[in-house]
Amino acid sequence: MLHDGVETQGKGSQPRYGRRVRVLIVEDELDLADAIARGLRREGYAVDVAADGTDAIDRLAVTPYDLVCLDLTLPGLDGTEVCRRARAGQAAGDPRIIMLTARDTLADRVAGLDDGADDYLVKPFAFAELAARARSLLRRDPARTGAVLRAGAVTVDTARHRAERDGRGLDLTAKEFALLRYFVTHAGDVLSQEVLLDHVWDEHADPFTNTVRVTVGTLRRKLTVGEEEPLIETVVGRGYRLRADPDDRDDRDDRGGSAPHGAAEGE
Ligand code: CA
Repeated sequence: MLHDGVETQGKGSQPRYGRRVRVLIVEDELDLADAIARGLRREGYAVDVAADGTDAIDRLAVTPYDLVCLDLTLPGLDGTEVCRRARAGQAAGDPRIIMLTARDTLADRVAGLDDGADDYLVKPFAFAELAARARSLLRRDPARTGAVLRAGAVTVDTARHRAERDGRGLDLTAKEFALLRYFVTHAGDVLSQEVLLDHVWDEHADPFTNTVRVTVGTLRRKLTVGEEEPLIETVVGRGYRLRADPDDRDDRDDRGGSAPHGAAEGE
């Protein structure tokens, strides 16, 4: 099947990408934004520019960018906030993020990485350095540079906001979709409630509510109907895990022991 330049193939194979890599530059110093944009276009990327954080969020919501070059200090929403929102499911894609930061805010780089940036670059930087970092990030995990993510039976089309299990379309809320996307990009890992709250919910989420547990429960029920194998398992005391493939049983790496499937919402 071919749509939007993204070719999806049989189960288990990697999608191939016939489209150009899309980059969003978020930078309020327009000369710098322009210089980066011209350089990246010469490298063959499709480049858009946003001059403030609000514009960036608007663009991220509709376009599945592969890479974002994100200035830390912006008018309105700053880079940290843009990054957090992008990671909290407000981005159509799952972009790599390079934070651009001035030397006097170097301490912020750690906070930036904590907020979900993949890399940072201290201003002023040589364009060649940025281009090299971009190539490295985009190469690191080819599955992330496209719009379709897979883990075992689950496919998440980030561009079209559609998810399937074995070809069966899933009717998900925005939050369930963001949660499933996070599970798929971390398939096989045990994810704690705190990690899910940090990465899928925004900073207004109340850490003392059971919102994570409830949403995992509804997602789990939509993923598994009838006699289908459960895909999200509860690892008691540690969190939740999406099986990377159907043979990936719960006897792997769970020192805390596993609860029976479906036990999370069993109270
Ligand atoms: Ca700035």
